[in-house]
Amino acid sequence: MIRNRKIIFAVILAILICIVFYILHTKKVESDAESKAEIQVSKSKVVYLTFDADMTPFMKKKLDEKKVSDYYSKDLVNYLESEKIPSTIFVTGMFAEVYPDLIREIAKYPDIEIANHSYDHPGFESPCYKLKIINTDEDKIEEMQKTQRILTALTGVVPKYFRHPGLCHNQQDDLLAQKIGLTVSDAGLTSGDSFNKNSKGIVKAVLSGVHDKSVIIMHLGGPNAPATYVAIEEIVTKLKKEGYVFRVL
Ligand SMILES: [Zn+2]
Repeated sequence: MIRNRKIIFAVILAILICIVFYILHTKKVESDAESKAEIQVSKSKVVYLTFDADMTPFMKKKLDEKKVSDYYSKDLVNYLESEKIPSTIFVTGMFAEVYPDLIREIAKYPDIEIANHSYDHPGFESPCYKLKIINTDEDKIEEMQKTQRILTALTGVVPKYFRHPGLCHNQQDDLLAQKIGLTVSDAGLTSGDSFNKNSKGIVKAVLSGVHDKSVIIMHLGGPNAPATYVAIEEIVTKLKKEGYVFRVL
């Protein structure tokens, strides 16, 4: 009888030891997997996709005269929204006035950030391509603040970033933006998508110049950026394959 009890006790003890070992082993496997996942995230390279939504009085006139149907690509916007691609869209105030419903719709997507790209796309410094030039601090501040008011009223969010049209600006211009609470975004990788019908060339420009934390400068499509939509799908697919993750600014 006593012998039997000893055997039963030994069996129970063995089972308990096995259970303890099993639990400890499972915990180790889980923590190894977690630390592997952490390493994976910290190893990811980050890229910031940005799209400028330009509008000048000349462009608006063409829209009013129905010489142009739209100055953005619906397909491009749908792609960013439906695929949940984190991206920052720099919007001119005049563009937002022409397309208020579009801006309200985009603002609903948490993966897309709306930023300020001046009111009617003037050059802040001369020369600046063929853009009209503004010279006074008052005009420059008004270009930024007017768009802050328009975008904030439409989206309920105060934009944090500002990009000068044509990237034409000097240090004094940057200080003006800072004064009204805006961070200037200019250092970036230009995709060369303006008036460019060659999507392969845009893809090549991005992929050959990209590095960790690159800000890719593109446009929101339309006749002034006719191949951006075709290029973006390939850019996103290839950057993902290279281990990049996308973030808003
Ligand atoms: Zn622009």
